[in-house]
Amino acid sequence: MQTIAAIADGFGSFQLDTIEVAPPKLDEVLVKMEASGICHTDHASLSWKRPLVMGHEGAGIVRETGTGVTHVKAGDRVVLNWCIPCNECFQCQRGDTVLCESSKPAHVMSPSRGHAHARGTLWRGTPIDRSFNIGTLAGLTLVRKEAVTVIPAEISFPAAAISGCGVMTGFGSVINIAKTQPGESVAVLGCGGVGLNIIQAAKVAGAKTIIAIDTNPAALERAQRFGATATLLPDAADKELRDVAEKVRQLTGGRGADYAFEASSRPDLAFVPLLLIRDGGMALQVSGINDRVTVPMPWFMWNKEYITPLYGGCQPARDFPKLFKHYRSGEIKLDELVTRTYSLAQLNQAIDDMMAGRNAKGVILFN
Ligand SMILES: [Zn+2]
Ligand SMILES: [Zn+2]
Repeated sequence: MQTIAAIADGFGSFQLDTIEVAPPKLDEVLVKMEASGICHTDHASLSWKRPLVMGHEGAGIVRETGTGVTHVKAGDRVVLNWCIPCNECFQCQRGDTVLCESSKPAHVMSPSRGHAHARGTLWRGTPIDRSFNIGTLAGLTLVRKEAVTVIPAEISFPAAAISGCGVMTGFGSVINIAKTQPGESVAVLGCGGVGLNIIQAAKVAGAKTIIAIDTNPAALERAQRFGATATLLPDAADKELRDVAEKVRQLTGGRGADYAFEASSRPDLAFVPLLLIRDGGMALQVSGINDRVTVPMPWFMWNKEYITPLYGGCQPARDFPKLFKHYRSGEIKLDELVTRTYSLAQLNQAIDDMMAGRNAKGVILFN
């Protein structure tokens, strides 16, 4: 079948062009895309040195399934997950499916699985990879069955699409990695798309103190609507956020927060969460910083833990239903995170708006 896709050239730009998508084989699912969120990874994927069907967070309707697929059927509404467990390898067997060894969560394709699927998508007569093996910025996507989870009828496609990446990253980091308990305290550095989801997940977890930190007053106001119990606006002169750390201590009984999350994407703040937590607390870096940064080792004292959780430790079959249960009960807001929707033809504008920070979240709609 032919469909239109956004194709990154690997050297900084993209074009809309026709791709040919094969029917699903045994363990595959063909999905008609309805919505695809845009995040910074999509911008980065423009420069991954090879042509690629873009997009890694989306939702749509199952069009066709292979004969080995039983958990979804044609007509089902589904969300896609970009960490695709194989459920067979060493890491999947020990329950850490985000570390699946045959479905690496980067743009690295596994020789056994990736290329089998790449053959399912042709561009100009040649196999082309899909971003994170899902490539959601296309009218149709062909994925392994482990990449789709059914969504409830009442959730909109844009809301479901964003759940597939930033929402799950924030939610899962709190629920699965920090395992925040009722009465505990949480500090969040950066209140954009991921930060807001950390805040609302912390509220769901019963955190008593949720401190939002951002240099943008509008972001702090939003953070309060999502459940922050206190907000801090750092002074421009406070480079290492020492004053902020002092205020966090005051707000947490003089000890520091139980957990502090870095969701600002600012390399200079990568280790600052260590200054915001108590001894034995946990610092989580969730914004995917790739730069080389230095840190004074005493910041790790005493017994502080530092972790960069991947995809919130998401196990799709377990965590999407959990997330949507909280959405249904009104504890998790999703629709409010979608600032603006675009057509695929407006992808350039959507990327521009994201890079300029104009949206909490932009979503491409297909029809
Ligand atoms: Zn993303
Ligand atoms: Zn695996």
